[in-house]
Amino acid sequence: MARAVKEWTGKTPDTKAPPRVRQRVFDRHEGVCHICKLPIKPGETWHLDHVIALIEGGENKESNLAPAHAHCNLAKAAQESARKSKVNRTRQKHIGAVKPKGRIQSRGFGKKERTEKLPLPPARSIYRSIEK
Ligand SMILES: [Zn+2]
Repeated sequence: MARAVKEWTGKTPDTKAPPRVRQRVFDRHEGVCHICKLPIKPGETWHLDHVIALIEGGENKESNLAPAHAHCNLAKAAQESARKSKVNRTRQKHIGAVKPKGRIQSRGFGKKERTEKLPLPPARSIYRSIEK
């Protein structure tokens, strides 16, 4: 019987998984990128990505790691960070942590006065149908 392998857990959230753990995670996912679901080809750069992001409460441990193409991982990270900033900005505004930028300035009305009075259109009698 094969000896049970203890799950790797990073000592700190920043601890990088050692090569043997990278290999195990890669094999467990059969070399498939967990973001785009395409196989990671030999020679392609790949990262170990946290399935549940650390910032969302995910743990830095083997079961929360999955292989991802470097480009997929970076795109995902950029997207997440953009979303996070937006959420934070909105929340900061809601709780009054930041001053609102102020009112939106209207373009205003033109300074030039209208000189010529336009004639009113001829009134249309509502009795027209009876008058005839
Ligand atoms: Zn991918």
